[in-house]
Amino acid sequence: APRVLSGIQPTADSFHLGNYLGALRQWVALQDTHEAFYCVVDLHAITVEHDPQALRRRTRAAAAQLLAMGVDPERSALFVQSHVPEHAELAWVLSCLTGFGEAGRMTQFKDKSAKHGASAASVGLFTYPILMAADILLYTPEPGEGQVLQVPVGEDQRQHLELTRDLAQRFNHRFGETFVLPGAYIPQGAAKITDLQEPRVKMSKSASTPQGIVEVLEDPGPMRKKIMRAVTDTGTEIRYDEENKPGVTNLLRIHAALEGVPVAELEQRYAGQGYGQLKKDLAQLLLDTFTPIRERTERLLEDDKQLDRILADGAARAGAVAARTMEVVRERVGFVGRG
Ligand code: ATP
Ligand code: MG
Repeated sequence: APRVLSGIQPTADSFHLGNYLGALRQWVALQDTHEAFYCVVDLHAITVEHDPQALRRRTRAAAAQLLAMGVDPERSALFVQSHVPEHAELAWVLSCLTGFGEAGRMTQFKDKSAKHGASAASVGLFTYPILMAADILLYTPEPGEGQVLQVPVGEDQRQHLELTRDLAQRFNHRFGETFVLPGAYIPQGAAKITDLQEPRVKMSKSASTPQGIVEVLEDPGPMRKKIMRAVTDTGTEIRYDEENKPGVTNLLRIHAALEGVPVAELEQRYAGQGYGQLKKDLAQLLLDTFTPIRERTERLLEDDKQLDRILADGAARAGAVAARTMEVVRERVGFVGRG
């Protein structure tokens, strides 16, 4: 089976609806067709100022939510990035192959550092894409016909995957064929979700207000309220129209993705009905989807030991692959073996 590698940052106590429909739901589906490596990227989470207690809590909460959504630790390696030290080790080697100017062209750094003030941004934030390249390339497939590594990426990560491919190619060129170039994977049914209060911009944990975001672990009452209060558009017609009706369009898109039906079917179903009915049904659909996930997450978080065992097991599996890759890398680069 082709391999798939994906990571998510533990930078909030709960994932949100955009994370779920844009990425995490596909993680679950991809397990049927891929050998999956799923990683909670705590090393990436410290590139900006953070609170250690919160990081520890959020790392476990992230893993618990992934399990609750259906990531199956029997089939997939679910692990914490810092448990596999090869991530940092390969990142160092790759950083020595990256040009300073090349790294400086990464637009996400420019955006994020602008927010923190350019001089307050850490070198870690600057070299973040190189760590991401290491995250990916460690799981390069074994040499063999038709082996591939696929990386699901949103628009904002596309440039980083390009850098990853450049670095893999450069390494291969200088030190001999080692890495298979990873490919971008656009998962089926991934949907871009916008902010409930500002439906022209992406729902995001750093930019959205609490009213604009639906959290996976949110209580039912507030969740229902947020949907009922979502910004809609003038007029009364329930119609998919990104340009003129971004609010209704977002609600239709969420509804369609959750129910697994085409938007056109919903337009027919709601013909002649008001926005209120659409919102009421959507709120119910969200509760039906997220309540079992929230309850399973809560149960998993009651037993840290059990959760940590699952993560240790995932780290052992991922670590075995990472160790093999790193062994080849060390040898190719010219490091003396430890004997
Ligand atoms: P930040 O604001 O810190 O960038 P975020 O809310 O964008 O956070 P990320 O951790 O950057 O969340 O993204 C995790 C995954 O969720 C990525 O694969 C990203 O593409 C996806 N994702 C995030 N927001 C959305 C959204 N609104 N719609 C669809 N997918 C999303
Ligand atoms: Mg983001």
